[in-house]
Amino acid sequence: MTGPPAAHSPDTELEHLIEEEEFLEAQPFDLLTVPVIGPLLRWRHSRTFLQVPLFVVSIVMIFEGLLGPTLSPKNLATVLTWVHFRGALVLAILCAGNLFCLSCPFMLARNFMRKWIHPRFTWPRRLRNKWIPIGLFVAVLFCYELFGLWSSPWLTAWVIVGYFAAVLIVDGLFAHATFCKYVCPIGQFNFIASTASPLEVSVRDHEVCDGCRTKDCIRGRRELSSPLVILQRGCELALFQPAKVGNMDCTFCLDCVHACPHDNVGILSRLPGEELMSDPNRSGIGRFSRRNDIAALALVFCFGALMNAFGMVSPIYIVESWLKRTLQFQSQATALGILFAAVIVVEPALLLGLAAWITHAWAGVKNGWLAIAVRYAYALSPLGFAMWLAHYGYHFFTGLYTIIPVTQNAVARIGWPILGDPQWTLVGLPKTVVEPLEFGFLLLGLAGSILVAWRLAQEDSEKHPVRAFVPWGVMCAILFFCCVWLMTQPMDMRATMGAG
Ligand code: SF4
Ligand code: SF4
Repeated sequence: MTGPPAAHSPDTELEHLIEEEEFLEAQPFDLLTVPVIGPLLRWRHSRTFLQVPLFVVSIVMIFEGLLGPTLSPKNLATVLTWVHFRGALVLAILCAGNLFCLSCPFMLARNFMRKWIHPRFTWPRRLRNKWIPIGLFVAVLFCYELFGLWSSPWLTAWVIVGYFAAVLIVDGLFAHATFCKYVCPIGQFNFIASTASPLEVSVRDHEVCDGCRTKDCIRGRRELSSPLVILQRGCELALFQPAKVGNMDCTFCLDCVHACPHDNVGILSRLPGEELMSDPNRSGIGRFSRRNDIAALALVFCFGALMNAFGMVSPIYIVESWLKRTLQFQSQATALGILFAAVIVVEPALLLGLAAWITHAWAGVKNGWLAIAVRYAYALSPLGFAMWLAHYGYHFFTGLYTIIPVTQNAVARIGWPILGDPQWTLVGLPKTVVEPLEFGFLLLGLAGSILVAWRLAQEDSEKHPVRAFVPWGVMCAILFFCCVWLMTQPMDMRATMGAG
């Protein structure tokens, strides 16, 4: 990015004005320049300001989950966690970016702890990848189905307590943002989902970075007289702003914004999914095509969305019964385990293996099938995100108003009925409004995945881009129809009145 054209341009004044206008038009939108929102986010304590309300809500949810009503649609812990929180999270990622990590209540507790406890260890090198959080992510999806977390306020409360404990233990022992980068399954979900976001934390002008001597965005701003004293920490996730690409691994914590002495970091607009269309060397990450773990995360993200939705529609009961009858067992965990293995491991392995083999053999792409599969796995992220959006959006919108009677009930139970009698008839938006939204999300996701696959195919095969693209385009179409089929099945209204 360069500055406006110099005033001493030899061209006429009119040409100069046109150039200046073109320059201004080329500037991306920067959220930090928006009145009210910009100054609020640039305020040094903005993150804490956003975290405190979520922290208070988390504590209320823990108490409510342990001591409140046992019926999940009447309990704040289950309603907020499984109806509102998940929906709000994906909608925020769609409209802006990784706003949940920005206001993460677990990090508030962790930052408070680190005022006194300074971690002594660094995370082992061989664990600096996404395999642990991928395993945890699958485990969360599995336990959600097996133990019916949505129907148990008590278990939901313990999940929140467990999360706080895990954050404090990991980040109490290991330096930097170890939990966020290498452990947190919610964080990985947010990272991969926010590759489809319209905003990213990015430098405003690379020329300013070229001349920057201190690199405070990564090192942290230090006391001039005593460089060991850090006044503002730099990026704890090892993302060096000038070489950072996209939203992967970025928690939107804005430490880099506060640390940069040149005010050169903004929250800039970009084409959603753009970062998936190329394969540069990314700060703190490397090349996507060499990160089998992040490719696996993208696949678990996409096929996990299918599995999670499949767990809520009636055909799953038929399949489970058939499995138990045919294989002669009774265990629900075994039936679910087989289904998870089929949808999250076998299905992607077969589909991607076949598509990669066709790309190699038909389009003449030289890489081996595994390298091709890794490269194109990222193209499925937009469709996977669309499926999460359609699914969580469905629960969010159809259960939108349930928070009102549940809150009225919770306040009345503590002997303070100022909000009136619970209006249990309040539920949410009608399905006639929500269903078109769901299909709109899925169509957007399909368009995004197709565009990413096409751009990768163009890069991979100058001679036969169409041949390189076709297997992946067909795969996107197949997955899209699976998503549409799932969303047209009767779905359990979990954690809302009338839940199945
Ligand atoms: S973002 Fe700021 S601190 Fe980082 S290199 Fe650029 S100018 Fe320097
Ligand atoms: S400090 Fe790192 S994680 Fe935080 S917003 Fe900046 S780049 Fe993202």
